[in-house]
Amino acid sequence: MKLITTIREMQSFSSDVKSSGKTITFVPTMGFLHDGHASLLKKGREVGDILVMGIFVNPTQFGPKEDYASYPRDLKKDLVVAEANKVDVVFNPTAEEIYPTGFQTYIDVEHLSKYLCGISRPGHFRGVATVVAKLFNIVMPDIAIFGEKDFQQLVVIKRMVRDLNMEVNIIDMPIVRESDGLAKSSRNSYLNMDERKAALCLCNALIKGKGIFNNGIKDANTILKEARNIIETEPLAVIDYIKVCDINTLEDLEKITDRALLAVAVKIGGNRLIDNCILG
Ligand code: AMP
Repeated sequence: MKLITTIREMQSFSSDVKSSGKTITFVPTMGFLHDGHASLLKKGREVGDILVMGIFVNPTQFGPKEDYASYPRDLKKDLVVAEANKVDVVFNPTAEEIYPTGFQTYIDVEHLSKYLCGISRPGHFRGVATVVAKLFNIVMPDIAIFGEKDFQQLVVIKRMVRDLNMEVNIIDMPIVRESDGLAKSSRNSYLNMDERKAALCLCNALIKGKGIFNNGIKDANTILKEARNIIETEPLAVIDYIKVCDINTLEDLEKITDRALLAVAVKIGGNRLIDNCILG
């Protein structure tokens, strides 16, 4: 396994792979790897010739009061996980390498970025779209793999790829959960024991909502009321949003006719966690 830290070396590696007729699969991450990331790598190993994993904590997707500085990092451990998942190349550039002095070009996926997490995290998806576009230009993947855990991110990236005619196929992978249902996340490491227990209210709210939907209730407000109740009875939880929305446009839905996204963002003792499920 190769560890590459410069754009020049990554581009030259990828050019060589492409001229040899092989395909590149790319799994971008912010590191501090868990089984959710590993499921993306496993898929990546199946679908392409050369598997590249990105590890880059992207400063432009964090707000000024967010956790960029304290975001968990453990490159040594991540390299062991990468090796175990048969990654060919880990691309781990510095922030200065990706954003040199004078950098000023950003990608804004205008509408999709405004909903859900975009409301309490203005500029977040501009940072995500920009770094993913840059990483695509650097790694030149044929296939890129993302998790449904960050459903809005997935929708934003698919839109960007279509709008900008990028030649990369996006594969999405289901959410990997802890045995008690909590969606795996690098940010779960912030939680103390009480918060960890309280964090179960996110997936419990989704289970409740899905159960009501499966019982034939298609009215979004009824589903939301019941799901919200679960979170509101948890003293450590503060709801950022809980929404039933269109899976493509992310606009609020009142009646579910086909499929819908049930998405939540909740602060647990100050730590913001997200989760979602598809209804239908
Ligand atoms: P992150 O390192 O949190 O930026 O995530 C990198 C990639 O892993 C993104 O495509 C995420 O959606 C995906 N991911 C994170 N957590 C999970 C999970 N629990 N299950 C599946 N994919 C995940």
